[in-house]
Amino acid sequence: MSMTKTFEIAVISGDGIGPEITTATSKVLEILSDKYSFSFRFKEILAGDRALKETGHALPSNAIDEIKKCSCCLKAPIGETARYVVLPLRQELNLFANIRPAKTIPGIPSIHSGVDLVIVRENTEGLYKKIDDISKECAINVRMITKEATERIMTVACKMAKERRKKLTIVHKANVMISCVFFRNVCLEIAKNYSEIDINEIYVDNAAYQLVINPQQFDTLVTTNMFGDILSDEAAGVTGSLGILPSSNLGQDIAMFEPVHGAAFDIEGKGIANPTAILLSCSMMLDWLGEKYSISDAKQAAKDLENSILKIYEETNIRTPDLGGKNTTNDFIRELLSIF
Ligand code: ATP
Repeated sequence: MSMTKTFEIAVISGDGIGPEITTATSKVLEILSDKYSFSFRFKEILAGDRALKETGHALPSNAIDEIKKCSCCLKAPIGETARYVVLPLRQELNLFANIRPAKTIPGIPSIHSGVDLVIVRENTEGLYKKIDDISKECAINVRMITKEATERIMTVACKMAKERRKKLTIVHKANVMISCVFFRNVCLEIAKNYSEIDINEIYVDNAAYQLVINPQQFDTLVTTNMFGDILSDEAAGVTGSLGILPSSNLGQDIAMFEPVHGAAFDIEGKGIANPTAILLSCSMMLDWLGEKYSISDAKQAAKDLENSILKIYEETNIRTPDLGGKNTTNDFIRELLSIF
């Protein structure tokens, strides 16, 4: 008798358009799992503006423990309380790698075509470590870069580059900052274990410039927390709409997947939210689950989901209003399900 793997997914349906895109996504995941040899059990985790209203806490005390019991977390955007939810989640689950792919989708207008890069951002330290002080005359933020966190993020980046086009760019400012010299040196030490990858370096200011004028030259970029934060938003702008970009936050044994966009209160409840970003985040989630539990079917399903989304943009005129169209979230989902 063959056993079907059940993935336990903690779901934060969030605020604004969050609940509508999450409902649409659950439907897609259920139908996708029927086609493959795995299934899902979704565990709703209350967090965000709604949680604050109902319980007095944006991130109720049992939320982290509930997420830890699951395979991973799928998170829709949070509204006003985002920083009281996202930062504690990243810290308490030790989600040390923020993965932000920026890929142009044929059929969606963008400044450049043929961009396919991923930014691997260290997510726990650097200038965001909150080692700071302020007085009337002065304020400081200490930029802490540790060997452990740098080795960890570089290893993630190398593994990713190996699976992609085998090109990895280390982004730093080692001509000015000693902490960047350290980051670069630790990265280069790890790089010695990956001779099959072409590894180069670039100063962060030049990286910002090159991303605008020639983003096609990049494949995988690895960098520190704040540089990664800024460059990934820039890369997003180069490739197209906010409604299409996915992301993941990876920890040791746990991960959280989320669209890059926010709660989009201006279109809440209208049924016109673009579900692409959260669906592509699900594709990243399936790939990660497949890797974690050595289930090739889940990796196959990840590709299937991504390719089916690309097909809609390449072969149909179905577009939600953020991309200039007149279609609804449900029109998009209906088309997607007909492709599976
Ligand atoms: P945050 O600070 O939480 O990231 P924000 O205020 O910067 O949020 P969003 O909530 O992402 O921005 O919205 C910015 C604009 O993009 C809004 O006009 C919103 O309607 C639009 N938008 C964002 N996501 C989507 C989506 N999935 N589908 C359609 N439009 C979207």
